[in-house]
Amino acid sequence: MPYIQFLGAAGTVTGSKHLINTSADISGKNGLQVLVDCGLFQGQNEWRERIWQDLPMSAREIECLILTHAHLDHCGWIPRLVKQGFRGPIYATPATIDLCSIILPDSGHLQEEDAEFHNRHKTSRHDPALPLYTLEEAQACLQYFKPVTFGETKQVSPELSFRFVHAAHILGSSMAEITLTSKTAGEGPIRLGSGQVRSTRMLFTGDIGRVRDQNIAPGKVVYSGPQSGESADILVMESTYGNRRHPTDAPPPELAELIRETAERGGSVVVPAFAVERTQKFVFMLKELMESGQAPRIPVYCDSPMAIKAVEIFLKHTEEYSDATKQLVSRYGSPLSWQGFTFAQTSEESKKINDSKFPCVIISSSGMVTGGRIQHHLAQRLPDPKNTVLFIGFQAPGTRGFTIKSGAPEVKILGEMVPIRAQVAALEQFSDHADTPELLEWLHTFQAKPGVTYLVHGEPSASSQLRDAMTKELGWNVQIAQWMQKVEII
Ligand SMILES: [Zn+2]
Repeated sequence: MPYIQFLGAAGTVTGSKHLINTSADISGKNGLQVLVDCGLFQGQNEWRERIWQDLPMSAREIECLILTHAHLDHCGWIPRLVKQGFRGPIYATPATIDLCSIILPDSGHLQEEDAEFHNRHKTSRHDPALPLYTLEEAQACLQYFKPVTFGETKQVSPELSFRFVHAAHILGSSMAEITLTSKTAGEGPIRLGSGQVRSTRMLFTGDIGRVRDQNIAPGKVVYSGPQSGESADILVMESTYGNRRHPTDAPPPELAELIRETAERGGSVVVPAFAVERTQKFVFMLKELMESGQAPRIPVYCDSPMAIKAVEIFLKHTEEYSDATKQLVSRYGSPLSWQGFTFAQTSEESKKINDSKFPCVIISSSGMVTGGRIQHHLAQRLPDPKNTVLFIGFQAPGTRGFTIKSGAPEVKILGEMVPIRAQVAALEQFSDHADTPELLEWLHTFQAKPGVTYLVHGEPSASSQLRDAMTKELGWNVQIAQWMQKVEII
């Protein structure tokens, strides 16, 4: 029987990887194999170590990869898949492809840097420490990407087709509606159109964006709201915020106050943020606060080697903008030309920011402090109570970001224990994920109950609370996907 196997983001929020095997042959021979997403495990060691594990099947036998969006926990394992022999097409929307073309090489670069650091300081139990993949390997896999626009139906084989619909999560983000036509058990060979086939529609949500409007989900820049009126026999759905309600108050006043207070005591605000999307949203908000006089005009540094390219891609894909973003871009133009905003590309430029003794705002990645230049900024500024660390994104358990945010007295960065004396603050409103009421609101728009829903991409408590809410409020058959579990496609 055809099945889905959950190879990642089951029992955790990272490492999204779901395999569809059409299992055409009852002798057990594999059918067509299609992977949906190919993300990196991040965070807790137990999961992180799995980034080194091979897939349970040969990568060469996978026909294609359908990619929902460009976050590393959905795309970051692609170079490894290619390294293991995958040569099929990687289908993604044009904006996702543009973003992957900077995110994947950057990920390879960071992994080389980390391995090099560990080798230099002998801080890894592996000798030598190796990168999962290199910048060059990441660049080489970009040749397999093939654009598929929203709404276009792509026939992968006579039995399997898919189309992307809007997920409203980040630039280019999509959900994948996948249709499998297969023979019913005990009947003869598949003859499409003969009446002996059945059609099953699967909806893989990827990550689901904010459902509510601009006022309640401020900073949201992309297409407003995920596709409504969906239908699916099998729904594979994310549950990151399955037990959470985002604050509904607008963040600008709180942000302005944090900047003002920190600057008044002579400190700086350090913001760990994904270089893509989150950083763009944040700088536009800073710009508005400074232009309107609500926040002091202190220098803003975006310290990420890919921040400039990310801004360029963001400005190119105007088809993805919400109305509010259209207005902001037409009012202020490109952030690359704003006075007082510096985008650092080289490591020399990055080091100069470290030398800055005057109050400033430093935005750097990675967003969960799992690597990248933010580590240097935090190692330098966390011990000083004048400074503020501001989180504007989800921090997965086990990451340094989670440790700092949860109030720990110290954190290990680049092999050293760093005392945390700086003020720690968080603004949850920037989330690109729908919260529980928003998820339920979106599910209410479905045309009919799915036969079964599998919850993925959530910590166990978030998934189980969302399952309970969906069962109670919608009466749906909801199950929590387990890592490596195979479920039948019926
Ligand atoms: Zn995502």
